[in-house]
Amino acid sequence: MIFKDLKITTPILKALEAKGYTHPTPIQEQSIPILLKGRDLLGCAQTGTGKTAAFAIPIVQHLHLDQQRSRSNGVRKIKALIVTPTRELAIQIADNFTEYAKFTKIRNTVIFGGVKQGAQTQALQRGVDILIATPGRLLDLIGQGFISLKNIKYFVLDEADHMLDMGFIHDIRKIIDKLPAKRQSLFFSATMPPKIVDLSQKILGNPEKVTIKPKQATAERVEQAIYFVHKKSKTKLLIHLLNTIEEMSTALVFSRTKYGADKIVKLLRRADIHAEAIHGNKSQGARQRALGNFKKGDTSVLVATDIAARGIDVEELPYVINYDLPNVPETYVHRIGRTGRAKASGIAISFCDVEERPYLDSIQKLINQSVPIVADHPFVDTTDAPPKPKTEKSEKGKNNRKKKKRRPYYRGKR
Ligand code: AMP
Repeated sequence: MIFKDLKITTPILKALEAKGYTHPTPIQEQSIPILLKGRDLLGCAQTGTGKTAAFAIPIVQHLHLDQQRSRSNGVRKIKALIVTPTRELAIQIADNFTEYAKFTKIRNTVIFGGVKQGAQTQALQRGVDILIATPGRLLDLIGQGFISLKNIKYFVLDEADHMLDMGFIHDIRKIIDKLPAKRQSLFFSATMPPKIVDLSQKILGNPEKVTIKPKQATAERVEQAIYFVHKKSKTKLLIHLLNTIEEMSTALVFSRTKYGADKIVKLLRRADIHAEAIHGNKSQGARQRALGNFKKGDTSVLVATDIAARGIDVEELPYVINYDLPNVPETYVHRIGRTGRAKASGIAISFCDVEERPYLDSIQKLINQSVPIVADHPFVDTTDAPPKPKTEKSEKGKNNRKKKKRRPYYRGKR
């Protein structure tokens, strides 16, 4: 199937062609026809599947055709609202809308907290068709009278599970209460626990459901490796890998804490490696600058905490390095999903010290595979993992690990 088969209008097809997209991803193939029919959608999918285009294309198409039909030259009113949990994701979604709508007269703007509101309110006052927002700033500007949701015809709640994790549930309820009853609603979440299902039922009316399995995306596209290493040697190992693996000219490194991220950057810089950190203590401007430098290739290593990294989308990012293993196994899947996006394949390397071994067990259980161990590196830690309660399962896992073949720690040319 190609995009043309999905009854997408010419200016959008032209925009997709300009981006070099020819074939829809599975979520796009399934969702676009449902959304063009005007149905509500419950999408169980995570970032990295092509989810943004799956909802952005039909929204731009509806608005473009509506605009052509009405030929109105009046003041633009906000007709589509996309609510997403983080600033980075909001900016990225807005960039996508701008690209898909570039041969139409549909305009968008993005609002988020952490920066002065002046530029955002000016953009709103100039008039937009589509608004992409984080919940707090949206309610703030509604309260100040800069935004009305009276004319919303299309509503998207993105990354619903993270909205809840980040404590946005009350804000979301307030936003929903302000929306017109007659609208098309889209709801996306990577996971569907009962709380999320409840929330989706409050928003959607008789939705069609599309599920894209994240496990498959992780297992098939991303090559994974574990390095057992002592906590104190992690930076040395990181520098060693960055200096010896030629392909590792850019890497996204994850740190569990903000303090840790700053420390890694300091040590990398001392080793003449151009690194920058991106985390919640940095101003919005500094975060955007760091991300921009990384995308341009001026910074080789971006060290991020989980919240700051959500939604980071760098085309063909070859390496993700988990300097620390996350204690929530789902976070591992999100992290390694930063590489091996729709087009490219990627490699995810994880450092694991003795204390992190239980995290590794939970991760392997979640992704339903054992991650290959790289044993031939200069900083290998042979300390035994702390004893685990002896269940039949854990004994089996241990045996599997011992049998694993040794792998080289680089791929391709050096
Ligand atoms: P998303 O899940 O929306 O964050 O998209 C993941 C990545 O896939 C982004 O870099 C998109 O620009 C890219 N992408 C989305 N749709 C396609 C497509 N049909 N073909 C190739 N790349 C795509």
